[in-house]
Amino acid sequence: MSVDSTVPDVRIFRLIPLSGKVPAFLPGQFMFLHLLDASGASVIRRPYSVASSPSSPYVEFAIDMVGGQMTGRLALTKAGDILGLEGPAGHMVYRGESRAAFVAGGTGISPFMSMLRSVSDKNLQGRFLLFYSTRDRNHIVFSEELQELQKKHPGIKAVITLTREAPGDWHGECGRISHEMISKHLPDAKEFDWWVCGPPGLVKAVRECLARLSVEPKKLKLEGWG
Ligand SMILES: Cc1cc2nc3c(=O)[nH]c(=O)nc-3n(C[C@H](O)[C@H](O)[C@H](O)COP(=O)(O)OP(=O)(O)OC[C@H]3O[C@@H](n4cnc5c(N)ncnc54)[C@H](O)[C@@H]3O)c2cc1C
Repeated sequence: MSVDSTVPDVRIFRLIPLSGKVPAFLPGQFMFLHLLDASGASVIRRPYSVASSPSSPYVEFAIDMVGGQMTGRLALTKAGDILGLEGPAGHMVYRGESRAAFVAGGTGISPFMSMLRSVSDKNLQGRFLLFYSTRDRNHIVFSEELQELQKKHPGIKAVITLTREAPGDWHGECGRISHEMISKHLPDAKEFDWWVCGPPGLVKAVRECLARLSVEPKKLKLEGWG
């Protein structure tokens, strides 16, 4: 397991399976991470969305270190420690849709990194729009990679909105995601399939925005946590 950090309170965990083989999963799925005791038995487990592409040789997670039972102990782990992995699970999956819109709040960006990395790896053709809400510029997880993905793949666009600051030199959006913000960047919202992941309040608010934009419920996949 290797660990590095990107933004305050969020750590990136990369798990390299001892077998050398990453479990097959679809972008958007989560896996259970287990902390193990000295005998290798699981002492605690929590679900985390996979951020890496299925074609990566490791499984990556972006974890908000909230100081709870799991994250308090994960904070003490170091590169080379062994953790348990179980899964995949979850139905909020991406299956290659060509008009895809993703809405993330906070570490809810993880499943969409897996989807966008997979779109880029496979060079899928289409339009892929990410709306990403985060508190301030320092909390944009995967900031540099999101810029690289947009340069590399002409169909990928990221709209980042800051909810707790509005810096003068910021060229993105500010404030919570609204139906006006969505239709400004995506006037044909109802032609897209939608995936939404983040705190339950954001998921509920975005679902209402999408209903106002006449997105059919069958085109929505939602996952709330945090
Ligand atoms: C399907 C699914 C996917 C998930 N994917 C991710 C992921 O990719 N990254 C990630 O960081 N988390 C993810 N989570 C949340 C994760 O499973 C844990 O709930 C989280 O890490 C907290 O666990 P804990 O044991 O440290 O906290 P607990 O001991 O369970 O809780 C401790 C305290 O912290 C509060 N708390 C818990 N979570 C948060 C939070 N996110 N922000 C603020 N306060 C909190 C609780 O309300 C509680 O008061 C996911 C959850 C689900 C259901």
